[in-house]
Amino acid sequence: MNNISNCRFCKSSKIEVIRPIASHCFDNTYQLYHCNNCLSKFFDPNEHSVDLDSMYQELSTAEGRFKADVVFTKNKVWAKQVKIIQNELGKIPNSIIDVGCRSGDFLMHFNKKVQKEGVELSKHSAEIAESRGIKVHQDFAENIKFDKTYEVVSCYALLEHLEHPLILIENLKKITSNNGLLVIAIPLHECLKQQVLSFFGIQWHMYSPPEHLNFFSTKYFNNLIEKEGEFKLINKTITSGGLINPFRKVPVLKRAFSLFMTLWDSSPLNKLPIFDHMYLYYRKN
Ligand SMILES: [Zn+2]
Repeated sequence: MNNISNCRFCKSSKIEVIRPIASHCFDNTYQLYHCNNCLSKFFDPNEHSVDLDSMYQELSTAEGRFKADVVFTKNKVWAKQVKIIQNELGKIPNSIIDVGCRSGDFLMHFNKKVQKEGVELSKHSAEIAESRGIKVHQDFAENIKFDKTYEVVSCYALLEHLEHPLILIENLKKITSNNGLLVIAIPLHECLKQQVLSFFGIQWHMYSPPEHLNFFSTKYFNNLIEKEGEFKLINKTITSGGLINPFRKVPVLKRAFSLFMTLWDSSPLNKLPIFDHMYLYYRKN
């Protein structure tokens, strides 16, 4: 095992190993690192030699949470995202690209007239999205050579998976049109939920190498986007992102808990770093 000596993001040498974390996909463990300079956490994707492409191709067809649905059904989370984006933009966008679009479920929530493109690594998911009329670039997102700009660029729950997230972040900034929106969702390790779990010795589910590799600090991430002065953070929400329902065996309580969490996620409490799904909305000058 070769330990790395610099932060994968800010390149500082002020890094320390927190503890080894077992992989759910492979029979091995990865060291969790913390950077004392940028306050981000990360795993080293090269700690073991694994084929991430094959891993994701398999995950998208196997039974489980990554499995792509062939049948499109509307869902409240995506409908809410469309509403927020259109409110911030002040109109229905002309064009959108969703980087990490899976089978295109989110894009399908936009009006038919919106030009929709996606980026997706899984061949299976990309084929479903294309059958729905979405133009899909099928590759690792860092490899795509984009040749135009889009009024909305979205990237939900993808950056934590990538070996080279900084390359993609720079590309996302370039392909956002002037006055357009860049929408990013990343896991938030600097939250009360993660701290409470850690206090009780329970592992945060996001620490799942080598699927999840990157856990940016909010300050470092915001600086990455805003540092040249082109982008400005205009909205931020922090939600529970589908917490496991502790009352799932008691229908009445299950519904009450689900309603409570929906209200929580839509209330002003979503500005506080309590849960672990952070949505960031940036406007480009
Ligand atoms: Zn760092």
